[in-house]
Amino acid sequence: MVGYEELKSAFQELSLANRPVIAHASLQPFGYIHNGADTVLGALASSVQSLIMPTFTYKTMVTPEVGPPNNGMTYGVDRDLNKMSQPFTLDMPADPMMGILPETLRNHPAAKRTSHPILSFAGLQADIILDTQTLYEPFAPIGALADEDGWVVLINVDHSVNTSIHYGEKLAGRRQFLRWALVGDRVVECPNFPGDSSGFNAIAEYIKPDARRVDMGEAFIHAIPLKRLFEAVQELIKRDPLALLCQRTDCERCNAVRNA
Ligand SMILES: [Zn+2]
Repeated sequence: MVGYEELKSAFQELSLANRPVIAHASLQPFGYIHNGADTVLGALASSVQSLIMPTFTYKTMVTPEVGPPNNGMTYGVDRDLNKMSQPFTLDMPADPMMGILPETLRNHPAAKRTSHPILSFAGLQADIILDTQTLYEPFAPIGALADEDGWVVLINVDHSVNTSIHYGEKLAGRRQFLRWALVGDRVVECPNFPGDSSGFNAIAEYIKPDARRVDMGEAFIHAIPLKRLFEAVQELIKRDPLALLCQRTDCERCNAVRNA
């Protein structure tokens, strides 16, 4: 059975004690852990300088009747879903799709959460990093992390959930999207919404030499320096403008990048 000490020594093996970190996690491969998410969060947070995680809230999103062309979405549909949309509030839970760890971080008494209605982040000892976010630059905190020699930590998950790759795509000049979210009784435009991430695993072989990895039976923890990750993403897209896109023919956002 995996416990706090074992987790803590695994995280410490990554040597990130003086680094700010963005983390993504699935806890299932660890098997049973006493106080599961709190234990993992405690072991991780005490092994890094500061920690942020995405606490995205997709249920705030609304689909308008019309909008800009080639925006990776179909307008005028999802009318029933629009009725179910909820206005963003700071205490809105992170989408269940994000896993349990971001929500555990958000609920930590010392945590701060940003107020982007779709793409918020929560963090510990990361106020300056989180404060860089604006409605126009939702992923600015990831850029701020990289400026501080930050790392991304992937706990039992692959690059298809590695949000930081979106920042590299934007640096490479890749098309970003416009989305809409409810805030109070208003619909707010959210520019620079990212593309689809399901093709991101193609990056793995390029950043392998710079990655650190700890294996724990079925479970694994992977860490990659953000600056190097952004370089790799930009190199890849420069060489092949279609790099890191998914292969689904019905993927609206990847198709919008292809048609750009
Ligand atoms: Zn796609």
